[in-house]
Amino acid sequence: MPDEHADVVIIGAGIAGCASAYYLSKRGVKVVVVEKGDTGDEQSSRAWGFVRQQARSSRELPVMMACNKIWHDLSRELNADLEWVQGGALVVANDEETMEKVRNWVEVSREHELETKLLTEREIKELVPSMEGPWLGGMYTPSDGHAEPRKVTSAFARAAQENGVVLRTRCAVEGIDVSNGKVTGVITEKGLIKTPVAVCAAGAWSQKVARMVGLRLPYRVVRASVLETEPAEHLTKIGVLGPGIAFRQRPSGSFYVAPGPGGTDYDVDLDTFRDIRLFLPNFRRNRDLFKVHVGMELIKDVLRSIPGSPARRHPFSHTVGVEPKPNRKVLDIALRNFRRLFPSLASLGIQRYWSGRIEATPDAIPVMGEVDGLQGFIFATGFSGRGFGMGPIAGLLTSELIVDGKPSLDIRNMRHSRFREGDLDKTKAVV
Ligand SMILES: Cc1cc2nc3c(=O)[nH]c(=O)nc-3n(C[C@H](O)[C@H](O)[C@H](O)COP(=O)(O)OP(=O)(O)OC[C@H]3O[C@@H](n4cnc5c(N)ncnc54)[C@H](O)[C@@H]3O)c2cc1C
Repeated sequence: MPDEHADVVIIGAGIAGCASAYYLSKRGVKVVVVEKGDTGDEQSSRAWGFVRQQARSSRELPVMMACNKIWHDLSRELNADLEWVQGGALVVANDEETMEKVRNWVEVSREHELETKLLTEREIKELVPSMEGPWLGGMYTPSDGHAEPRKVTSAFARAAQENGVVLRTRCAVEGIDVSNGKVTGVITEKGLIKTPVAVCAAGAWSQKVARMVGLRLPYRVVRASVLETEPAEHLTKIGVLGPGIAFRQRPSGSFYVAPGPGGTDYDVDLDTFRDIRLFLPNFRRNRDLFKVHVGMELIKDVLRSIPGSPARRHPFSHTVGVEPKPNRKVLDIALRNFRRLFPSLASLGIQRYWSGRIEATPDAIPVMGEVDGLQGFIFATGFSGRGFGMGPIAGLLTSELIVDGKPSLDIRNMRHSRFREGDLDKTKAVV
């Protein structure tokens, strides 16, 4: 590949990268997207598909409320069936601690004028009549929805390509050229692309991309597992989260079932002790949300770090096609919980199991915007398990930042320098 030029190079063809490329292409910007594997192959095609404003931090909520409006019209905008269903999101609780979180969050939603109702058990029963309780109560946000992750990123990519965006898959970025504090090019395994702007939309690999320009990007990578059932009769359009369970029913009738926020795995690796000070407060608060494993991932990481090893020489292409392992144990528990909620579906078969890696920042808030002191280096990452829902607006705001010099919504709360400044969001994790 001879040296190329682009106005903007986007690193990563997940939903954040492809949406950024699409909105930039609408403004006439010459964009190249570089992807180490295939389009949407990582988190963006593995998500549950929830598009929730519900239970977001105050820092993210205005951005996500604006994104919700984009979702309403996205299928028409991209001319694609995205399986968008505006069925609302429901959290059900059967312990006082969760109810307390729910009540607190309903207050947050009120401050932002987002309609969210506190529910009694009877009202839950009215919303999802076939679901068994008992419940202490819950909350419901009717404007939330869900869509199919395997369709959305590819639809953004296709629409971007129709507008002239060049998408290079199986082409890992291995370096970034910087001169006098400005980005001048992106080095891929197939050659240099000269550009004044590089967008880091590399998902769980963004930390390694940030290191290419000497930046620390604190996050931990966790593993989340999901299963899809065979299709069943239509029971609900609502996406539901409860104790030990999260599920939604696709228009085809199949259910995505996951263990919910508490069923996440954390594999200890060589990055575990980096920036530990930033993680400890949230680690203590949210200790019950994940299971810690010390084992193969640590050994593999040590092997990957051996000087001269293929993984050390090509740390990105080396990861392509490596499937993270779904945790069948937590999925079996989630399935049992699901069957308890819907006894009539007890014999429903399973179509597939999968898992994906999620980057989680110390305050679970994304990292967006240009980095101080490094002109042309922009983050659109760190979505901490909520980036499928937020992907479209992350792309739109990134495009506005690049073209207009300022996004149409305030994203200073998501700036990279907040880690250095100690200005982290202190919101307690809510279901
Ligand atoms: C199991 C699971 C369930 C989830 N459920 C939900 C949900 O219900 N709702 C929700 O909102 N979010 C959910 N999420 C989170 C959501 O999927 C992510 O936040 C979102 O997809 C992140 O998008 P992204 O574009 O930032 O990252 P990704 O989709 O991971 O894309 C990053 C891309 O960058 C590429 N890349 C990395 N390094 C390089 C390099 N050096 N060179 C070239 N390419 C590179 C990667 O190959 C990858 O394709 C879930 C995630 C998982 C795993």
